[in-house]
Amino acid sequence: MGTGLAGSAAAWHLRRAGHDVLLLDASTDLKRASGIGGGLANPMMARKGRPTWKARESLEALEAMGIQTRGTALPGLDDEEVAIIRTATDTVQAELFREQAAENPDLGRFLGPEDCKRLGAWIKSRYGALLVRRGASLDLSTTAARWHAHIPKQSVDPDWQAEETAGGVMLVSGSKRIHGDRLLLCMGHGMLSHPLTQSLKLHAIKGQIIRLRKPAGLPDPLPPISSQAYLVDAGDGSVWVGSTFERDWKSEGPTPEATKSLRMRAAQVIPSLGDAPVVEARTGFRVTVPGTRKPMVGPLHPGSRIHVLTGFGARGLLHSAWFGARIPIFFNDPEAIPAECRVVHRPATS
Ligand SMILES: Cc1cc2nc3c(=O)[nH]c(=O)nc-3n(C[C@H](O)[C@H](O)[C@H](O)COP(=O)(O)OP(=O)(O)OC[C@H]3O[C@@H](n4cnc5c(N)ncnc54)[C@H](O)[C@@H]3O)c2cc1C
Repeated sequence: MGTGLAGSAAAWHLRRAGHDVLLLDASTDLKRASGIGGGLANPMMARKGRPTWKARESLEALEAMGIQTRGTALPGLDDEEVAIIRTATDTVQAELFREQAAENPDLGRFLGPEDCKRLGAWIKSRYGALLVRRGASLDLSTTAARWHAHIPKQSVDPDWQAEETAGGVMLVSGSKRIHGDRLLLCMGHGMLSHPLTQSLKLHAIKGQIIRLRKPAGLPDPLPPISSQAYLVDAGDGSVWVGSTFERDWKSEGPTPEATKSLRMRAAQVIPSLGDAPVVEARTGFRVTVPGTRKPMVGPLHPGSRIHVLTGFGARGLLHSAWFGARIPIFFNDPEAIPAECRVVHRPATS
C-alpha cells in the first residue's frame, strides 16, 4: 500500500523474488514525501559528516536498483570522483569533515580552502569542503515511478479496511474486495491517521523545497551540493533547493517565508542564486519513528500478515532500496529485522 519510494522499492524487489505484486494507493495524499522533486542520496549527510546508518550497504542497494552512485570528475577537479560537494559552514564543521574523510576515505575526501578555489568562483567554500565520493542526486517521484513502472496498480479509498483471513488478507475499499497473501503498508504520512497504524505514533515533519531558475555562469550540470541548503540540478535550466524542517506548521502548502529562507540559504553557497526567480515551491511530510530515528519495518503484530515499512525521515532515497531488498526476507523471517527497526505500538498518552 503506497507508491512512494518505500512501496515502490519493496514492490520492485518482491516482483524480482517471484511474487505477484499489486500496488495500491489512495493518490489523494497531498502530503506525499516522494513527490517533492529533487533530493540527494547522501551517505555523509549528518552535520558532522559521519557516515549515516548502513551508508555503504544502502549505496550498494541503490546500485542494484539501477542508480549510479559513483561520483564523476568535476571541472577543476579532474583527478577526483565527486558525487556530492559538502561545503563546510565554519571552521568547526571543516575540522569534523576533515576527520570523517580521514576515517572513511572510500566515502569522502576533505578539500582545504585553497584547493577549493579550483572549483571556481561560483561557489563559496572559504572553510573547505567534504567531497563525497559516492551518492546520487535524483528526482524522487521519477525514481519511485521507475521502480514501480511495470507493476500493476489500483486506486483505493484512503479509509480502506483490511482483515486477516485463514490464508491471507482481505482489503475492502468501497465496493472493491482485494485478496492477497500479505499486505505491506508504506503510506508515509497516511500512517499517522489510518486506524490500523495510528498506534505507531509516528511523527511528521513538514518540508518545503523550491525550484529556482539557474543563473548564467554556473557549471552545467551543477554538481549536487549539500551545505546550508541542498542543491540539485533539475536538468531543465532550473535548480532544486531544499529543504525546510518544520515541526509546527500553520498551512500544509508552501509559504513565502520558507521560500525566502531557502533562497537565502542557497545564496550562502552560490551567491548568484540570491536573485534567481522562483519557478515553483512544493511541500511534503517526512515521517519519523519517535526515539529511534530509524525506519520501522515488520509485522504489525506478531504473526500478522499485515506488515509496515515506514519512518524514512530525510533519508528515503538512501534507505528505501536497502529495506526494499530485505522485504522478501523479512516477510518470512521477522527475526532477521534489525532490533532497532522493529514495530512498536505506543499507548495513546505517549
Ligand atoms: C522537502 C523534503 C525534502 C526531502 N529531501 C530528501 C532528500 O534529499 N533525500 C532523501 O533521501 N529523502 C528526502 N526526503 C525524504 C523522502 O522524501 C522520504 O523519506 C520518502 O519519500 C518517504 O517515502 P514513503 O514511500 O515512505 O512515503 P510517501 O512518499 O509519503 O508515500 C506514501 C504513499 O502512500 C499513499 N497513501 C497515504 N495514505 C494512504 C492511505 N490511507 N491509503 C492508501 N494510500 C495512501 C500516498 O498517496 C503516497 O503515494 C525529503 C522529504 C521532504 C518532505
